[in-house]
This record gives sequence, C-alpha cells and structure tokens, in this order.
Amino acid sequence: MNIEWDKLGFQFLPARSNIRFSYKDGKWDEGKLCTSNEITLSIASNCMHYGQAAFEGLKAFCCKDGKVRIFRPLENARRLNSTIEYLMMPQFSEKKFVEAVKKVVKDNIDYVPPYGTGGSLYIRPVIIGTTPQIGISAATEYELIIMVMPVGPYYKGGIKPVKAMIHDDVDRAAPRGTGHIKTAGNYAASLYPTSLAQKAGCAVMLFLDPKNHELVEEFGSSNFFAITADGKYVTPDSPSILPSITNKSLMQIAKDLDIQVERRAVSKTELETFAEVGACGTAVIITPIGEIIHHEKVYRYDQENIGPVSKKLYDRMTGIQYGRIADEHNWMEEL
Ligand SMILES: *Cc1c(COP(=O)(O)O)cnc(C)c1O
Repeated sequence: MNIEWDKLGFQFLPARSNIRFSYKDGKWDEGKLCTSNEITLSIASNCMHYGQAAFEGLKAFCCKDGKVRIFRPLENARRLNSTIEYLMMPQFSEKKFVEAVKKVVKDNIDYVPPYGTGGSLYIRPVIIGTTPQIGISAATEYELIIMVMPVGPYYKGGIKPVKAMIHDDVDRAAPRGTGHIKTAGNYAASLYPTSLAQKAGCAVMLFLDPKNHELVEEFGSSNFFAITADGKYVTPDSPSILPSITNKSLMQIAKDLDIQVERRAVSKTELETFAEVGACGTAVIITPIGEIIHHEKVYRYDQENIGPVSKKLYDRMTGIQYGRIADEHNWMEEL
C-alpha cells in the first residue's frame, strides 16, 4: 500500500476490507470482514429491477492527537433504518451498525489519511435486496455492505463558490417524491437534470417543493441553508428533503455561536434577500453558492469567496472533526 495522500480526490479507491451482513430466513447474520470488492448476484435480484437499495455516507478522521474518530455514526444508523423502513427492508440494529463501522475502520486504519493532509476515510454503507424475483414486492434476502475509502479534501485550491440552477428550469424536470429517503433511485433520476445544469455552467441543482414550486427544498445531494441579512441561519423544514446530519450539526454549531436558527418554510422569493447561501453535506461540509439561476432571473451572492458566517461555521465544524476544538456535544466516536 502506497497512497499519495496529497493526490487523493473523492473517488472509489479499494481499501483492505469491507464488512458484509446477510439477511435470510427472517434474520441478519453476524457479519464478516471481506477482502473482495466483488459480489455475486442473481440477474433477477430486485435491487437491479426495482431499485430496492439504500445507502449512507459518513466519515472517520485522524485527529490532532493521532486518534481516529468517527463523526456521529449513530445518526447514520438511525437514518438508514428510517430509509429502509420506507423501502420495506428489515431494520438493522443501530448498536450493531456502529460496531460494524468501527470494526471496518479499525481493519483499514492505515487507510485513514493522516492529520494535516485534510483528508478523511469515507464510509459508505449500502443495502440491497438480493432475492431473485420479477413480481413487485419486497425482497426476502438482503445484503448490507459497509465499504471504506480514503478521500482527499474536497477543496484543493481553497473554498470556491459554485453556481446552482433551479430544477424546474430544465427539460423534463420532475419533482422528487422520495427526497426524504437516501435511496439510489433519487440519484439516478437526478443525473439527467444535473447534466443539463452542468451544460449551463452550474455545478448543482436546487429543487423546489413538488406541489407548488414555491418553496426552496434542497440541492441534488445536499441540504440548503442561507444566512439572512440580519445574520440568522435559515434552512427549509420540509417532509420531502433528506434530513442531513451536517445540517443538523451546523444548526447546533450556529446556536453555540449565538447565531439564531430558523428551520421553516423558505420561499423562493427570499433568495433575493439572503446574504449568504450554502449547500451542506458530509462530503464537502459547506459549498458556498455564488449564483442561483432561475429562468431569466439570476440571484447573486459573493462569487469569489465563502461568506463570513459560512466560513465561521465551516471552521468550527472541521475544528471539531479534526480534534482542534473541544467536542462539547460528544459527536466524535472513538474506535
Ligand atoms: C446524503 C444527502 C444529504 C446530506 O446529508 P449528510 O448527512 O449531511 O451527508 C442531503 N441531501 C440528500 C438528498 C442526500 O442524499
């Protein structure tokens, strides 16, 4: 193994092992570490035909004191169970999930980018229905695989704002009815609209509410937040967006910094008034949004630099993750 830490991006890089659990005859097995990166599936597996598949994403960090810690894994365990309940998949013990994440991180400890490189170990649990069937119903057999891979800092040359396009601007735009669950289908369905946005120079897509196209919901793979002119942190409260653990953490950090937090319906007309807009998620923490395009309208924010409030939140979040700032909410889970 010879990883050039400073060359890492955000891509799949096989590590030593992954951990796998099988569900059969009504129960999950005890799981095992596995060094193969392949699986054997029936061509009639229902994850392939009907998309009975879900995933999670979280990270382990090598902290300033040299210890490796995982950021809020119990939150991912809970969200996975909420997603798979909706997808009619069998619940997985949250305690066992956290133990499994620790086990696979430990087995791949030398793949965790060292402190100072800005990298982390990305942890990707995925669960699929494997029963061969053509009739539409939930599978009776499942596989839960937790894989890990070292990733580099998302921003290599400093944090740069990106452009966003509102989703109803694109050809064949369709609302996301299942935005509240972390399922493969949402991502496949966002590839086409995102490709159109990218052709227009926009890195991300912003979804509006499916009913009236009046309220701001979230970006394709990250939550929406904004800083108002009077310095409040505002983020949409909607049943059709994914409950982001990064957003939940940023709301807490904002409160800790005496920034007022408002989780409420956000009208698209408010886009005109915001001082800062950001996208938040595990991979990047915060992507500042420099511009939002909606038909002939363009909402402009700082296009050169991350805004001062977003920067403060970003620094505090990464400070906690890398152990530079006291972890007063006990978010970092030791191995
Ligand atoms: C994963 C995801 C997010 C971000 O969630 P985090 O827990 O912060 O990583 C936001 N929106 C969607 C649609 C997602 O799939």
